Order: sequence, then structure tokens, then C-alpha cells
Amino acid sequence: MTDKPKLSMLTLGGTIAMTAASAQGAVVPKLDAADLLATLPELEIDLVTHDFRQLPSPDIGFTDLAALAEKIEQEIADGATGIVVTQGTDTIEESSYFLDRTIGGDVPIVMTGAMRHPQQAGPDGPANLSAAMVVAADPQARGLGTVVVMSDEVHAARYVRKSHSTSTGAFTSPNAAPIGHIVEQELVLLSRPRPYEPLPRSPRLTETSIGMVHAALGDDGDWLRPFAEHTDGLVIAGFGGGHVPSRLVPLLAELAEAKPVVLASRTSSGPVLTRTYGYPGSEQDLLSRGLINAGFLDPFKARVLLHVLVSAGADRAEITRIFHDSGEISVS
Ligand code: ASP
Repeated sequence: MTDKPKLSMLTLGGTIAMTAASAQGAVVPKLDAADLLATLPELEIDLVTHDFRQLPSPDIGFTDLAALAEKIEQEIADGATGIVVTQGTDTIEESSYFLDRTIGGDVPIVMTGAMRHPQQAGPDGPANLSAAMVVAADPQARGLGTVVVMSDEVHAARYVRKSHSTSTGAFTSPNAAPIGHIVEQELVLLSRPRPYEPLPRSPRLTETSIGMVHAALGDDGDWLRPFAEHTDGLVIAGFGGGHVPSRLVPLLAELAEAKPVVLASRTSSGPVLTRTYGYPGSEQDLLSRGLINAGFLDPFKARVLLHVLVSAGADRAEITRIFHDSGEISVS
């Protein structure tokens, strides 16, 4: 018998695992779990490791995420009390949300990465990995779902954004705050996100295509029709509280009749409104034409959620209901 936490670590590549042939060369993912662990002091945990992928995170796709979720569920069934996933930071805000929405149960899934690669001065990978282990091993983390641990902060997957391209403080939760901190190698938890019922992962995940379009000043969207034809659903990242140029409205209304079209905000924080503006192209106009409100969900998380729902065959009413709940929309 042992009281030690039983952690399972899965590596997917990313800057945390990158090296170059020479000190001046550009880095690519190369290091495996054993290499990453060699940078940490000895750990008081039972740890199994899996070198799952060796990718820069822009190359992670839904096929990889579905396989990762399955592997994590298998590790949990085999007795893991916490999961640590290392991956590139570029897409961690999306992959963490995917895992958060599709894996049930109480076992915490803790994702981390690095902003500085191991050959730079002051690489943050070892500190982030060590902090992720602390969180995954702490019984307080049970029931938190998937979190991202970077720079000694714990961010809920539903809130976290990569908000800077190079800073070691790149990770923020713009609509909330970190839900916890790692202080003197211990987890200090400040708040707990409410749990979600896990959504099903359909085999159709890999063949579903959801497009994302950002509204931009003066863009009449002429190019959008042929692009939209090749998608099963769309996320429109509107201006401000959910607005687009009026010239785009007839096309968006037509598309919303044919497939789910979700309206998010391109601002990176704050919700889509429901009843403030009434001009053509305003949130009220678009919602009245069948677009689905993403609420507080940013366009990237909205796209992941729509992808999961469309691939599972959810109908418009179900998609609207789940977005209403996930986007924390308080008005009916
Ligand atoms: N481009 C890298 C990646 O996402 C950046 C990182 O790992 O932080 O894999």
C-alpha cells in the first residue's frame, strides 16, 4: 500500500520539449518525458509516463485530441489520481477546453508547457512542470476538471487564454482570474469552477469542419460564401458586443438557416450582448436571424464547443441550450 498520488504524464511536444542541433539553430520538438523529468528534483509521487506525440502545438488536431482523451480515460480507469499533459502553448487554450468538456469524473487533468525553450536563459518549462505535478497530486484539485498551470498560476480551461506571444506571463483568464496559485510548492485554491456534464466524443470529430471568421472594418464578406459552403458550422467573431457590418447580415442570416452559426466577440473578453443595440448588424439583429449567442465564450472556445456538438449530431435547440449554459448567459 502506498499513499503517494498516482500520476500519469503524457507528453505532446511543444516548446517545453524543443531543442536545436546548435545553440544558434531554430528549435523543434525532440525531448521525451524522461528528458523533461530529468530537469526536476526527485518527486514524492508514483509516476507513469507516456510519450504520446512529438508535435509543435499548431499541428495538433481533433484526431490527436480524441486519442488523447481516450488515453487519459484509460489511465484514469487504471487508477491514476491525477493527469499531467505537456504540450505547446499555442493551442493549449483550445485543447484544454476540449478535454474539459469531454472527460467526466473527478480526476484533475493539468496541462502545462513553456514559453522559453530549454536552450534559452531561464527556461520556464521545469518550473511549470513541477507546479503542474503539485496541482495534479493535490486532493483539492479533484473535481476541477481540466486546468492550465503556467507561471505558478492555475487557470480553468473554460477561461484561459494565451494573451501574449512571448511573455512567461502569457496566460490569463480575462473574464475571471486564476482559480489558484502555487505558493512554496503548494496549491492554494481560490475558487472552483462548477462542473460540467461531459459531452460525447463522436467518431465524426475528425471529419467535422467548423469555420471561424473575424469581423473587420470595411470587410464586406464577399469571400465568405464559398468558404462557408465547405463548413458544417461557423463561428463569427463580431465587433464589440457581437456586431458585424450591415452588408454581411443577409448572408449570415442565410447561412444560419442552413447550419449553426455562433456569434462571439472578437474583443477577447466580455460577453456578446442580447438586447442593447438594434441597428442592422447589431447583436439583436443577428440573434433574431438565428445566430446562436456564445455569451462569455471567446471565439476559439466557441469553435471547439461547436465542433464537439456538431460532430455528435446535436440539433439547433440542443446547441443553443448548451451555448446558453456554457456562455454564462443570464437573460432568456
Ligand atoms: N509554437 C510552440 C507550440 O505551440 C510554442 C509553445 O510550445 O509554447 O508548440
